Amino acid sequence: DKVKIRTALLSVSDKSGIVELAGALAAQGVRLLSTGGTHKAIAAAGLPVIDVSDITGFPEIMDGRVKTLHPRVHGGLLAIRDDADHVEAMKAHGIEGIDLVVINLYPFEDVRAAGGDYPTTVENIDIGGPAMIRASAKNHAYVTILTDPADYPALLEAMRSDDSQTAYAFRQKLAAKAFARTAAYDAMISNWFAEALDIEMPRHRVVGGVLKEQMRYGENPHQSAGFYVTGENRPGVATATLLQGKQLSYNNINDTDGAFELIGEFAPEKAPACAIIKHANPCGVATGPTLKDAYLRALACDSTSAFGGIIALNQLLDGETAEEIVKLFTEVIIAPEVSAEAKAIIARKPNLRLLVTGGLPDPRSRGITAKTVAGGLLVQTRDNGMIEDIDLRVVTKRAPTPIELEDLKFAYKVAKHVKSNAIVYAKDGQTAGIGAGQMSRIDSARIAAIKAEDAAKAMGWAEPMTKGSAVASEAFFPFADGLLSAIAAGATAVIQPGGSMRDEEVIAAADAHGVAMVFTGMRHFRH
Ligand code: 5GP
Repeated sequence: DKVKIRTALLSVSDKSGIVELAGALAAQGVRLLSTGGTHKAIAAAGLPVIDVSDITGFPEIMDGRVKTLHPRVHGGLLAIRDDADHVEAMKAHGIEGIDLVVINLYPFEDVRAAGGDYPTTVENIDIGGPAMIRASAKNHAYVTILTDPADYPALLEAMRSDDSQTAYAFRQKLAAKAFARTAAYDAMISNWFAEALDIEMPRHRVVGGVLKEQMRYGENPHQSAGFYVTGENRPGVATATLLQGKQLSYNNINDTDGAFELIGEFAPEKAPACAIIKHANPCGVATGPTLKDAYLRALACDSTSAFGGIIALNQLLDGETAEEIVKLFTEVIIAPEVSAEAKAIIARKPNLRLLVTGGLPDPRSRGITAKTVAGGLLVQTRDNGMIEDIDLRVVTKRAPTPIELEDLKFAYKVAKHVKSNAIVYAKDGQTAGIGAGQMSRIDSARIAAIKAEDAAKAMGWAEPMTKGSAVASEAFFPFADGLLSAIAAGATAVIQPGGSMRDEEVIAAADAHGVAMVFTGMRHFRH
């Protein structure tokens, strides 16, 4: 199962480490073949290297669109070396075997991320490279395929210690990686089309991404994990810059995403806003006259849960807000921008991860979300419904006051980002109590009220903020009991999708208590 490397074909866009690799291969007597630019780089280092055009007897044409797509190359990659017919064909057509292929592809991902125009992006779709990678990987019984400069040292080490040979198991692993590379590459291209043409689900896109980083572990320490990026042009945790702190964990990334998607709902020009997240649910969200106020108001909702939380801000993190944040143990801060003063303050807490995104995600934009099920993937378009875009229907005798209406909208926005069943009480642009993830809606309503009572005790308030609050339910109340529980906690206005068989009963209960209720007609389940 060992194969001695005698001939190698090198064709790389990312030329880092290629000259060193070529030198080390040449030193072991390997014959080097290469394409235009790669050939140039290797030859410039004074190493012996043959141009692929000399092998094919055909020049590179069409600006490099056709360089290696030739039977002398692909025959050399695909031939079964101990099959008499294949050997015969090689002889008949002057094809020589290629034992090692080193390729990395046109940088489609980089060009896309840099916002390249349509023709430039299309031109950066590599054709010959994936063809060679797939041919080599298919023929891993004989061919070693390297698609990642990070694997150069392992190859040289394997060859050095084994008379320039590679072992079958080594080639198998590289083949698996090679197909992962071409699959991710094509997924990226397909998704670029989907985005450029605004194609939604699901026929014209694949669900896939490129491994950005390997995590130390997954949701729990005995699980391994990786972070894949899809290339979607969306400010958020996948594209953010980590200014300080350790690598983000799997749970950090999940929670930070939830936090930032939530805060993206709050337009910065309307008011500074802050969300604090724990276990993918908000434990406090608030707007305020200043960002510092917004943070303190979000914190007041549930200062116990906020310990070790994730903080998302909808605008530049300033010094006075940073000064408040560092008083409490926090895992991650994510913001569109950070002032120099805030940076210096956060630097006093070296473990605190600080992420800067350069902007907010557009909550109305399309895109997909995915989750796995056993043996499959569930894919759907993002929940991009916005309360501002909905015509609300007042269903009770009393309509909400303008102040109630503002709080209803605020609560509904937050409820969209709370795991179902979700009940959110809000007052004056501040969450008063959040009930998340319960199997019955009435339990979520009760828990949210209990949290509000705890907050009042912790803050020394005379009464919980649920008194005179607005309450949101992300899906309809199936019975009046959940609503009655919210009314008992002090809610005076309610927002919910409506659509239950018992809507009449629920509306009657609201009317009986003089409560104003509006229907959105749009559910925001989140699981
Ligand atoms: P070089 O810089 O050596 O001229 O080009 C290297 C790049 O060309 C590699 O990224 C490789 O994947 C790509 N490549 C090799 N052969 C072909 C081909 O026949 N067509 C196209 N479009 N790209 C190729």
